[in-house]
Amino acid sequence: MNCELISVGTEILLGDILNTNAQYLAKELAALGIGVLRQTTVGDNEGRLLDALDSAFGRCDTVILTGGLGPTPDDLTKETCAEYFGKKLLLDKESLEKIEAYFSARSIVPMPESNKKQALLPEDSLKLPNDNGTAPGCVMEKDGKRIIILPGPPKEMVPMFRDYVKPYLKKFTHSVILSHSIRTFGIGESYMSEQVADLLEGENPTLAPYAKSGEALLRITASAADEKEAEEKIGPVAEEIKRRLGNYIYGIDTPNIETAVFELLKSKGLTVAFAESCTGGLCAKRLTDIPGASDVIHCGVVSYSDEIKHRVLGVKKETLEQFTAVSGETAQEMARGVRLLSGADFGVSLTGYAGPGNEEEVGTIFIAVDGEKKTRLQKLVTCHRGENCRDYNRHVAASNAFNLLRLVISEND
Ligand code: ATP
Ligand code: MG
Repeated sequence: MNCELISVGTEILLGDILNTNAQYLAKELAALGIGVLRQTTVGDNEGRLLDALDSAFGRCDTVILTGGLGPTPDDLTKETCAEYFGKKLLLDKESLEKIEAYFSARSIVPMPESNKKQALLPEDSLKLPNDNGTAPGCVMEKDGKRIIILPGPPKEMVPMFRDYVKPYLKKFTHSVILSHSIRTFGIGESYMSEQVADLLEGENPTLAPYAKSGEALLRITASAADEKEAEEKIGPVAEEIKRRLGNYIYGIDTPNIETAVFELLKSKGLTVAFAESCTGGLCAKRLTDIPGASDVIHCGVVSYSDEIKHRVLGVKKETLEQFTAVSGETAQEMARGVRLLSGADFGVSLTGYAGPGNEEEVGTIFIAVDGEKKTRLQKLVTCHRGENCRDYNRHVAASNAFNLLRLVISEND
């Protein structure tokens, strides 16, 4: 089986919404070992959709479409696909009852007449129930070709794919593709690649380096008959990478550095407090994005003025005068200050120039981690001074702060 994706919707063409459905489906299909040959987006237009279907079936046997299953006249995916396969649309009583129940449960009575259209299904099709909305999806087959139609809203599409389409597709695949991401911090993509150069030549598993927002990661991917066999192929290579990259690795399949730090703090029963200047609370925000963060974070102080650095965090006036607010000395006193203020095990501070502005200074950020046994200071120079440097510099500074904390905790052991 090989397939193509067609995303239907003028909103996507106009750039009003991001095509996250295509991203989700492409990833899921790759994991099932089903090749995706092409992705297409078309507006809500019958002629162009027919054209896209015809073109796709010139290359593949299965086309998966999302969007355009709604009740309005511009929702025409199902009608157009039925027409393409020469199939009639028939009223599916069970779907109609479900749609009616959906409306009465929400006290919308009577149901709008237009919603009846959502209960139409192409003859001989396999219905895909919609457990999170009104429009069912469906699978249609003709002459060895297959069309799978899914709703547009991701909260409906994702569960429908996961619960009904995936089990259906599994019948057609004889292999799985499994990937793990080995995430590193503090090592550049090129240096990282050099350390594993010989492993990059491997064919199964394959190893691919990526760089993203100041981090480098290695994606290791194996194909095999089943998941267990794929893990067995990945295992020894992953172990070798761990041996070579050591403590640069902060996690495997860990979504981000703050999650790694959260897990580390939690597993050791430790806590942290932040004193942030140039990042304006971003560290606290990123850590508290994780459910359960209250177990590990005491507080965050956003200390922009010298006055607050002195009065709340206890940074000495002389330090501010002699070294300025953006200095290693100030950063260290901020970190110590917030630790003592909060009673947390670690104080983490950031002070620097996020930009834009003075070319000389932008991207210079001091980060300090203060613990009872140890203080560490890092001077970060991001070399990022362009137009959109502010977001980037703040993000990377916060990531570096998390990483410095991670290193201090692991050195404390
Ligand atoms: P509805 O019943 O809501 O009309 P539908 O199946 O007709 O659903 P569309 O009208 O195409 O789907 O899209 C409805 C909404 O679903 C869009 O406004 C958008 O928020 C989301 N959506 C549609 N397609 C995509 C996509 N490819 N990626 C992400 N979101 C999408
Ligand atoms: Mg719609």
